Amino acid sequence: MKTDIQSILDQLGVKADNAAFSTGSNWGGVSNIESLESFSPVDGKLIASAKVATAEDYNQVVEKAQTAFLDWRTVPAPKRGDIIRQFGDALRTNKDALGTLVSYEMGKSLQEGFGEVQEMIDICDFAVGLSRQLYGLTMHSERPNHRMYEQWHPLGIVGIISAFNFPVAVWSWNAALALVCGNVCIWKPSEKTPLTAIACQHIIAKVFKANDIAEGVCNLVLGDRAVGEVMTNDGRVALISATGSTRMGKEVAAAVGARLGKTLLELGGNNAIIISEHADLDMSLIGAVFGAVGTAGQRCTSTRRLIIQENVYDGFKEKLVKAYDQLRIGNPLDQSNHVGPLIDQDAVAAYLDSIQKCKAEGGKFIVEGGVLTGDHYSSGCYVKPCIAEVKNDYKIVQHETFAPILYLIKYKTLEEAIALQNGVPQGLSSAIMTLNLREAELFLSSKGSDCGIANVNIGTSGAEIGGAFGGEKETGGGRESGSDAWRAYMRRQTNTINYSNTLPLAQGIKFDL
Ligand code: NAD
Repeated sequence: MKTDIQSILDQLGVKADNAAFSTGSNWGGVSNIESLESFSPVDGKLIASAKVATAEDYNQVVEKAQTAFLDWRTVPAPKRGDIIRQFGDALRTNKDALGTLVSYEMGKSLQEGFGEVQEMIDICDFAVGLSRQLYGLTMHSERPNHRMYEQWHPLGIVGIISAFNFPVAVWSWNAALALVCGNVCIWKPSEKTPLTAIACQHIIAKVFKANDIAEGVCNLVLGDRAVGEVMTNDGRVALISATGSTRMGKEVAAAVGARLGKTLLELGGNNAIIISEHADLDMSLIGAVFGAVGTAGQRCTSTRRLIIQENVYDGFKEKLVKAYDQLRIGNPLDQSNHVGPLIDQDAVAAYLDSIQKCKAEGGKFIVEGGVLTGDHYSSGCYVKPCIAEVKNDYKIVQHETFAPILYLIKYKTLEEAIALQNGVPQGLSSAIMTLNLREAELFLSSKGSDCGIANVNIGTSGAEIGGAFGGEKETGGGRESGSDAWRAYMRRQTNTINYSNTLPLAQGIKFDL
């Protein structure tokens, strides 16, 4: 394994102790760490370490980005799109290597690692088309011989803070769009996955170099949350797009709000599938199990709760228990396994703590959890996906635990099920399994799901890039990726042009001299 990974690191230009685009020792009191050591949750081995950016490095990066913006904003958007097209091609060439590194550094299955890189390629394709479609509206002026229209201009520096669970795709969702819109980017990846970030930076930097584009258009600063905090407090960064926990989002919103900057927040979810008595139960089973155990329950869209109609509750429960019996847990690079490890031992502790809290509140486990031990599980990060019967108002059920713990809740009427589904602080993804048109339409109506994503006969996880992605309430309200999410990366300007030889005032106001 080590040898394979070493050749992959070499191919991607990630060298041990690679300081990427930052050098130096520490943040002089801002951060407690000097370097980020990346241990694989797959086998617990140290892959490599990377130096943390110093305050001085950070300043240099911002200054370089400011200078690069002066040119980049004048490059015609379709030409910027062409650069992103070349970046997409470079990702195609590196898909296997980058996907494998994602799997090894983060712990998701190889298929999901490749899928994550495919998502990057897809958003590049989307951004290329978008680069010719940054449309503004034209309005009719109330004044004669006047023309009114709106334009969209770039913001400047976009700061991207990302989470460990989608270590590369989330950056590309933001960067591909922000770049075709004419912005420059500074990325602060998760401290848990620095190597995949370095690999991405190398891939895009080569494309820039080949096109004689300034390095400062796309930047990387490595570090823990202290580096993120400096960025959120920096008035030179026009937009902070932050993906991570609700706790982080509240801190980022407060810091950026205090300087009246812009934020785009993509935070935690607490996603449910309603399984109606009119559901196709076999299809529902696949959606529920993949949603709950895929990426070891570490997706923002992972299925946390199943809200099941009482007439099918016992039968579906039985199917679930049987399916969980068949799950193979182990090395995610071995494609015969269904479930890989959690990201680190802290995540394992949080998983165990949630199980304890659930039991203390009265939860009844029908599939028990636990930590796996033995040669194949030497990292100590492999846990058993588990299932508990609960009440929706348990404190632990209201909280997002980033692990494969699935809660079952029984309902009688669809109105009650929708109230349960909406009865949590988060509002990211939701789904109903039903073949009944009336039920499906009610769920999607204004009286239905209050989430940013609402699906019918599809689980909660696995969104496509074409739609706007994000959620309501404590999920933060931001939208990324497809549809018109690009607008968050631009500023709107309304222009009125008078081509008459008089100066009529709006609202017919008279002002004669
Ligand atoms: P986290 O909040 O611990 O960290 C996310 C990032 O924020 C990291 O880069 C971290 O260094 C930085 N950070 C933390 N505190 C900060 C602060 N005060 N100021 C600035 N930066 C700060 O999250 P995590 O454990 O890496 O990821 C898991 C969480 O991310 C889950 O809650 C999950 O639901 C969420 N998530 C949401 C989406 C979405 O699109 N809604 C996508 C992926 C993950």
